Amino acid sequence: MKTSFLLSFVCFLVVFVEMPNMANCRNIFTSNENDTVVSLLTAGRYTEEGNSKKEQALNFNLPGKSKPRIAIAGLGIESSTFSPALTTEEAFHAKYGTTVFSTYRFLSVDSPLRNQAEWIPTIVGKSLPGGAVTREAYESLVNKTLDSLKKNLPYDGLWFDIHGAMSVVGLDDPEGDFITRIRKVIGKKTIISTSMDLHGNVSWRLAQNTDLITCYRMAPHEDAMETKERAVKNLLQRIKSGKGKPAYKAYISIPILLPGEKTSTRIEPGKRIYKAVAPAAAQNGIIDAAIWIGYAWADEPRNHAAVMVTGDDKERVTQTANQLAQRFWNARSEFAFVAPTGTLAECLDKAIASNKRPFFISDSGDNPTAGGAGDVTWTLTQILARPEFKPENGPSLIYASIPGPELIKSAIAAGVGGHVKGYVGAKVDARFAPPLFIAGKVESIEYGDRDAEVEAVIRVGSVQVIVTQKRKPYHKERDFTQLGLNPRKTDIVVVKIGYLEPELYAMRADWLLALTLGGVDQNLERLGYKRIQRPMFPLDKDMANPDLSARLVPSSDN
Ligand SMILES: [Zn+2]
Repeated sequence: MKTSFLLSFVCFLVVFVEMPNMANCRNIFTSNENDTVVSLLTAGRYTEEGNSKKEQALNFNLPGKSKPRIAIAGLGIESSTFSPALTTEEAFHAKYGTTVFSTYRFLSVDSPLRNQAEWIPTIVGKSLPGGAVTREAYESLVNKTLDSLKKNLPYDGLWFDIHGAMSVVGLDDPEGDFITRIRKVIGKKTIISTSMDLHGNVSWRLAQNTDLITCYRMAPHEDAMETKERAVKNLLQRIKSGKGKPAYKAYISIPILLPGEKTSTRIEPGKRIYKAVAPAAAQNGIIDAAIWIGYAWADEPRNHAAVMVTGDDKERVTQTANQLAQRFWNARSEFAFVAPTGTLAECLDKAIASNKRPFFISDSGDNPTAGGAGDVTWTLTQILARPEFKPENGPSLIYASIPGPELIKSAIAAGVGGHVKGYVGAKVDARFAPPLFIAGKVESIEYGDRDAEVEAVIRVGSVQVIVTQKRKPYHKERDFTQLGLNPRKTDIVVVKIGYLEPELYAMRADWLLALTLGGVDQNLERLGYKRIQRPMFPLDKDMANPDLSARLVPSSDN
């Protein structure tokens, strides 16, 4: 495991990028941790045996029996209700039928898991985070999934691969709605295993309709594929062993709502809270355990942290859930931003004065990979207004990025070396600043990016502005170098991002998180929640201790 702590909590990328499986940490508890996990260890409940039994059951092929029939379905997006942006169906890049397999390395054609079952993939769609999904897009994708499921009934199992933070215009708890409608089609007998992002939300309805449920244990989500594979293995194990649905599902709602930029598992207290999950899940009598941070930029009653534990041992399931939840609650005052923060002006002042190069600044309020519209012009407007950047020989600054389809057209017409002028940004989110007029020289044009489609670098004074046809996150060094930019040799690099992604973090000489305006404002108190449950920490700082005792969720048979 890399020791550099950082990176972005970005949720979507890991779905497409195969990350190395992280070694299962065993000796993971610090000496000052004497609550939950140590009590589990000393009670002898956490054993290697638990895991090996699960593997044995999984490899046991029942003679004379046909392979279990398992359907695959799911939609993934985190969408901000505080952004005026809307997400349409095409943003999900939906895969249909057997093309779904290409998303999951562990289900490749010659993989052991692929041969363990008869897989019936329906539709899996994953979108870049954004604004709320239109009702039309949601209904279309859900109905296509249901139609596809109807064609191949019945199923022994269904793997429901979702993110859990989808917002749909005019519909609360879309994932709860989706799974309820799936149940109506496939019936109550089928075992559903749900895999989620830890920034997802677990409603009671989702908890009841699913049988198995789990989520990532790392933020940034280096264990995304490992988590999905675990959800599938747990499902297969329960089907093949004949144990079926878990006897108990414990659920605890934790009244905490925090941004991902405060809850990385690379640093405390997220680190120790999440390190307790794997040992908790490995106990005999427990199938899986999971902790959700929840999603802070949607205003629904379901948005808050949660714990779920599934298994057949009632006492162990409920006690483990209680301990994980209490551990989280006890640490609530320790959560802090993973990087020094400041206003944009403070961050620019420090970056200009610094001799550390490159100096990164996160334009965090409009982070497209958290759900920002990605076209807020407020930050770029402030930068271009600063006198330091007006001369060409001022401090070099890369700004990544701003959508400007009209300016892209002009840039294509003018060609590299030509001069262009026109407006960029604020087509979707103009609440904080209007479209920005820029005039400059076209330094490069690139075609074919999956998200941006066309990108151009426009030089304005000492600033190189990346203008895109459509919004795109800039997370990799290659994203810059393929445009002819050299971020390593640039004084200041400003990116619409929260935590720096690994490659950017590795190259930064210094870094500040600017608390800028936008649909994913890191200052949650500025968002103006109306519908989340209250009291909620840290919005209600002095709230009384909540009841964190586990509630048993009714079986999906009911
Ligand atoms: Zn996430």
